[in-house]
Amino acid sequence: MAADSSNLLDGKGLAQQIQLELKRQVQDLKTPIGRPPGLAVLMVGDNPASAAYVRNKERACERVGIASFGHHFPADISFDELQQTIHALNANPEVDGILVQLPLPSHLDATALLYEIHPDKDVDGLHPLNLGRLVRGESGLRSCTPAGIMRMLATYNVDLPGKHAIVIGRSILVGKPIALMLLAANATVTLAHSHTQSLATLTQTADIIIAAVGRPGLITAEMVQSQAVVIDVGINRQEDGAGKSRLVGDVDFASVQPIASLITPVPGGVGPMTVTMLLENTVWSYSQRHKASYNG
Ligand code: NAD
Repeated sequence: MAADSSNLLDGKGLAQQIQLELKRQVQDLKTPIGRPPGLAVLMVGDNPASAAYVRNKERACERVGIASFGHHFPADISFDELQQTIHALNANPEVDGILVQLPLPSHLDATALLYEIHPDKDVDGLHPLNLGRLVRGESGLRSCTPAGIMRMLATYNVDLPGKHAIVIGRSILVGKPIALMLLAANATVTLAHSHTQSLATLTQTADIIIAAVGRPGLITAEMVQSQAVVIDVGINRQEDGAGKSRLVGDVDFASVQPIASLITPVPGGVGPMTVTMLLENTVWSYSQRHKASYNG
């Protein structure tokens, strides 16, 4: 039997559409500005998952016409060397965005490094100044995964004012910023985490559920009310016992999909939107820095 896709939030399709728009925007701006946008990605060590993410980001840059400046360092690189590279990229006029691929080896202080990125080039939206702007409701570079979720909700006309949205997971990368963005959109927000009691009681009254934990099958059908919108941020690799593995989210998709009004698949939901928001942030930073060149 063919799977029912009528209530899927198609992150992959939406991401392709936004990337086409970005490509057109880059084509229009490149001549007056005199160069394409530039994104520098710093990767340390040989974590295969990180290498795959970096490759994915570089390919996406290529598709929309962003020049990517890859910097791959050995796992034993010092903090000072990375800091110097970031300072050079901050000063490089061809670079509009800088990101440090996480996680970093344990001898490196990732938070301290993020402070070194110039806030105007912080395309991951993780610098304290950009997070502060988010808290204050001011414009600025926004963290990519939450920004991608908000774009999906807007595209699918999900009504947010006054609705109960529950975010499960309180990381600085996803949970906290998406809770703030939903709050700014006038939702009533519950932020649940590993110490939350009676999670099911809370999710059962939610109109929108955002699961960002990293635990397969955490959200089951009994926890979801009829017609809820379900956003699955989790990315978990699950072995099938026959030596093969597949990616699954935090939501038990098979049982929750029939109840939800809209639901993101994994893969093909939040993931492609995250990469696309990185591209959008880079193009935004580029256009902001060169407003005078094209009467923007
Ligand atoms: P994290 O490990 O930093 O945070 C996990 C959060 O889950 C914590 O705040 C913790 O309090 C909470 N938690 C743990 N157990 C819980 C439980 N039983 N009940 C309720 N809350 C619980 O993770 P993260 O970086 O926020 O990522 C979360 C998941 O999202 C991971 O699977 C990650 O791979 C995925 N992710 C996906 C994308 C994407 O683009 N799709 C981007 C970032 C992260």
